[in-house]
Amino acid sequence: ALDIGHDLGRAILNARTFEREHKLVEELQELDAYKSQLIATVAHELKNPLTSVMGHLEMLESSPDLNGTTLSSLHVMDRGARRMVRVIDDLLLLSKVGDPENRIIAAPVDLHRVVDDVIDLTMVAAQQKRLELKVDVPDQAVLALGDAEEIDRVCANLVSNAVKYTPADGSVSVSVEMAGSEHPDQVVLTVSDAGIGISQSDLERLGTEFFRSSNPAAVAQPGTGLGLAIVRRIVERHHGRLEISSELGKGSTFRVFLPAA
Ligand code: ADP
Repeated sequence: ALDIGHDLGRAILNARTFEREHKLVEELQELDAYKSQLIATVAHELKNPLTSVMGHLEMLESSPDLNGTTLSSLHVMDRGARRMVRVIDDLLLLSKVGDPENRIIAAPVDLHRVVDDVIDLTMVAAQQKRLELKVDVPDQAVLALGDAEEIDRVCANLVSNAVKYTPADGSVSVSVEMAGSEHPDQVVLTVSDAGIGISQSDLERLGTEFFRSSNPAAVAQPGTGLGLAIVRRIVERHHGRLEISSELGKGSTFRVFLPAA
């Protein structure tokens, strides 16, 4: 009887702990949803007036009889406004892909095409740094199951980071393939660079909103710390997996596993 009493006591205690933890998780989820809602609302509210400012700037820039100083000030304002739009668009996308209510409409996505499109867009930036861009895609189609626009975004963010964080004359490679016999139902996109690399302590925080490395070589590049957070959320909502390996001063490899179509 003593044993039964003891077990019952423990069971009640466990149940109470479970209830407390469950409540805490719920509260954290509510807070997270509130934070996302706040970010989305602020981003929306900023976007409209900013679009109007940009329209007026464009009008002023094209007016005749401007002296050099005025024109160069207008250009500075224009560049600043464009950068703000990029940040706001990233915030809006982050809140969209982080919203569990907003579900993916999945369809087969040809990763070959995704990589080709991204490489086309990145070519100029890579050429400016004389980077070697290696692309390795099989002849047969590699089909992922997911949202084409979001998968495009994952690839674009990873490739643009690889180009950004690799010093001139370096190399970047992109490949897609079936994930292999261990994961026959997955496809994998790999983006590697021989760039500045990421320290072990930074690796642990990568993909957290607004996180940027304090490595001076990384700080020297413009950025917001939203790109990988977007990648992480998109991969999560596709029930995929993101693997990152890196060595400081040597380079980094990002592998994205997605369900195969
Ligand atoms: P951003 O590039 O706008 O700062 P990201 O979220 O894309 O934001 O990346 C977060 C941080 O991770 C970067 O600031 C940089 O320190 C590091 N990082 C990302 N990709 C690479 C890479 N390929 N090589 C080295 N560091 C990287």
